[in-house]
Amino acid sequence: MYDKFNRRINYLRISVTDRCNLRCVYCMPESGIQLIDHREIISFEEIVEVVILSISRGIDKIRITGGEPLVRKGIVDLIRMIAEIPGVKDFGLTTNGINLEKYAQQLKDAGLHRVNVSLDTLDPDKYKEITRLGDIQDVLDGIAEAKKVGLTPVKINCVIKKSSQEPDAVAVAEYCNKNDLQIRYIKQMDLSMGHFSVVEGGEGGDCKICNRLRLTAKGMIKPCLFNNREYSIRELGVEEALNNALYHKPKCGSVNTVGEFYNIGG
Ligand code: SF4
Repeated sequence: MYDKFNRRINYLRISVTDRCNLRCVYCMPESGIQLIDHREIISFEEIVEVVILSISRGIDKIRITGGEPLVRKGIVDLIRMIAEIPGVKDFGLTTNGINLEKYAQQLKDAGLHRVNVSLDTLDPDKYKEITRLGDIQDVLDGIAEAKKVGLTPVKINCVIKKSSQEPDAVAVAEYCNKNDLQIRYIKQMDLSMGHFSVVEGGEGGDCKICNRLRLTAKGMIKPCLFNNREYSIRELGVEEALNNALYHKPKCGSVNTVGEFYNIGG
């Protein structure tokens, strides 16, 4: 499918939860968040319904996000349900890596193709400082396991303040070179201020070639991360929500004052 700016829209990012087992300083307040009521969180059946219709409309790339998707109960079953739908050419998942060692083989067996793992530093103390809760060794073990089971290419999402030449980012890049991992640099963003930039080493943030729609953990289809528009699959039905999102996809992002990264999925 194409939007009214003739951009081919073939990528659907799905946030399956707003829950997370970390509290990264640039994403969540230390005190945690007002969680979405469990009854409001999108069901596997609803996700599958959106994926089936989206694929029939030209979507062929699916990414599972969160919060942290590997804390969603039954996540392996959901991966299997999506992988069984014909037409998914590129099926990825973005994780903080804490539970990755435990799930990697099951995710691979369920049909997942590859993973992106968040890693902003190699310094264990700094990692704890940034995530407030995490142990970096869990992430490094998860990355190794993902490579071992073939969830490849494993890509590393490295959040930077201003430049990929920041010491932590340089250290992560060296680690990636040594371990045959692909690094992408994501400058810290601010939804309500409309601060975002093109992902270095990736496609995100380049509005001219934007190819994506988002399905949030609350069952909203969003045309753009940096925009307040969202369409409820429960109120409008999947087809109407998808049509509205495509029709109202903006030429470029502006500000988003209604959502947060942890319930949209970045
Ligand atoms: S800001 Fe919106 S239009 Fe621009 S790349 Fe992101 S999602 Fe696409």
